[in-house]
Parts: sequence; C-alpha cells; structure tokens
Amino acid sequence: MSWSIKVGRIFGIDIKIHLTFLLILVWGAFNYGGSAGPLYGVVVTLALFTLVLLHELGHSVAALGYGIPVRDITLLPIGGLARLERMPEKPLHELVVALAGPLVNVVLAIGLLPLVAVLAALQGETFSLRMLMQPGLLGLLTFLLSANISLAVFNMIPAFPLDGGRVLRATLGFFTDYQRATQVAVTVGRVFAIGLGLVALFVPGQIFLALIAVFIFFAGGQEGQAVAAKGMLRKVRVAQALTPNAVALSPEATVGQVASLMMTSRQPDFPVLDPLTGQLLGVASHHTVTQAMQQGRWRSRIAEIMQQARTVPTIALTASLDEVQDKLAQTSSRVAAVYDGLHFRGLISLEDIYRVFGFLNRSQSSGRRIGWQAG
Ligand SMILES: [Zn+2]
Repeated sequence: MSWSIKVGRIFGIDIKIHLTFLLILVWGAFNYGGSAGPLYGVVVTLALFTLVLLHELGHSVAALGYGIPVRDITLLPIGGLARLERMPEKPLHELVVALAGPLVNVVLAIGLLPLVAVLAALQGETFSLRMLMQPGLLGLLTFLLSANISLAVFNMIPAFPLDGGRVLRATLGFFTDYQRATQVAVTVGRVFAIGLGLVALFVPGQIFLALIAVFIFFAGGQEGQAVAAKGMLRKVRVAQALTPNAVALSPEATVGQVASLMMTSRQPDFPVLDPLTGQLLGVASHHTVTQAMQQGRWRSRIAEIMQQARTVPTIALTASLDEVQDKLAQTSSRVAAVYDGLHFRGLISLEDIYRVFGFLNRSQSSGRRIGWQAG
C-alpha cells in the first residue's frame, strides 16, 4: 500500500499528499485558528503548503528545462519533495535547479510586501508581527509574506540535501569533481544537522526542527553513499562485468530441463537464443521457471513461458555499469540484454552490479587498488 494519494497534476507532474500530511492539517487547525476557529487554521495551513508546492514546482520546472523528467511532487508534514528522474550533475544545472525553489519564495515575498503595506495602511494598522496573529485577509497575507521569507532563508542553509547544501555542492563542483564536492557537502550538512538537533533539544516545542535535523543527517549520508557507489560503477564497463561462458538455452528446452539446470547453476538468468542466428529470443529467470513449475507445466517449452526479448531493455557492451543501473531503474527491470552492435553478447542483471560493487568496495576498503580501466 502506498501512503501517498494523488490530488492533481501540474505541468505533467503528479502532485501527491502523504497521508501523514492530514495530521498537519489538524495540527494547523488548532495552532493557526486563533480566535477565528479551526476552519481558519486549516485555510492558513493549506495556504502555507501551497507556498511549499510552488517552491517545489520552481525546482521541477528548472529540471524540466534541462530535460530531466520529474516523477512527482509529494507534500509531507515537514515540507515538499520533488522527485527528479536523476540529479543534474553539471554544476551550473544543479545550481539553477537548487536556486529555482527558494527564488519562487523570494519573488512571492516581493509581490506580497506592497500588498501587505497598502492593506495595513488602509486598515490603519502599524506594520508589526502582531498582524500575523490577527485572523482575516491582512493577517493571512502577512503570514504568507513571513512564511515565504522563512522558506527561502531556511532552505538556503548550506545543509545538504537542503537546497543550500545543493548550492554548496554545485559551487564546489566548479573547482573539484562531483564525488569530492558531494563528500564535502554531506560533511558540512551533517555538522549543521547536529547543530539544528542541539537547538531543537534546548529550545522547547521544536519537534519539527528535530525531525528536519534527523532527516538532513540521514538523507544527506544516504545520497552521499549513492553518489560514491555511482562513481565506482562508472569506472567499470559492461564488458568487464559480463559472466564469461554463460549458459544459453534453446527455445525447445522444456521447463523441466531448465529447472534441473538452474538447481546446479549460480547463473540468475538464462538467455534463450535462436539456434541458427544466435539472436536473443527471450530471457528465462528463476522466477518465471518456478512459476511454471508450480503450475505443473514441466513439459512446456521454455519459449512459451520466457520473458520475450522485445520487453527486455538493451544496453551497449561499451556502456558503464552506472548507465546499466540507470537503465534498469528507468525500465523497472532487473536484467538487460547486452549488444555489441547488432550481436547479442549476454545478459547483465542487478546481481552482476551488486557483485562488482561488493568486490570494488572490499578491495577499496582493504587499501588495495584494482586495475579497472575505463576503456
Ligand atoms: Zn527546495
């Protein structure tokens, strides 16, 4: 079950709210309602999250401008999250995408300021923080003005993966490589996260700040690890990770024959080849064969139950393993067919990537260097 429900679609991007978001509405009803009651509190909370949504749309539109697809935007109690298909790696692109969110809030604040000033003058109010707490149009607009300023300032704290942290990584990226820039940004982010955590500990009622500090600490580290893994996989070509002498199947082989072969082999997937041309017809995996056995189809030909070749993503022999990883993620497949021009050369799967990564990781931590060539 998914915890997010779709509420709309803007610029072709699904807008979702996480179910826990409903809690924040209840919280907002009582905290922002004041003398005007809970309904006004809900209006204020929804207005606040509209600003968060516009902020995320800022990032998303900038990403789309660089040809990066945006999967969806989800509103959570601690803020919004725009999921990009991939992170922009060129420093300039990342800088623009990271700044686009806070920029939306700056523009909105600049637009709201004269509105609030005129309305306050008309109502004979002197401009003060007290206006925030007064229910009504002036109070709401003042609240939105201050919320825009807070959103812009808070997100620009250089704590990766907050926007400011991404700006920091992008800026470092002009002087050093992506891996190193990420490492520094993650470390700086963690120092800030600990700082925020301490503030949350000593200032009462800062539960959200505490949650955000925990989020920065772990999410930053996780993204840092993913970048490091990608950097390692980028140095390895598909040709170096292909299992040599992999067993291929004839389309005439029966499920029973393949099952006994699978019991004695460590190979996760078996290509089914045309015996005359050597071209790939399909893929037999443990899963499909086990399923056929459960249905009692021992005598069926493997060609009848295999995954057809046209549904298997393809990758070039010269591609790097991080490209394979991206391709498998995009197509939600765990195996891809490797081609050298028009010739089928083998299958590469997530297991192969894990195996190579585990090997590189161990060899790196033991201090020895393996001569992987980016050929
Ligand atoms: Zn942002």
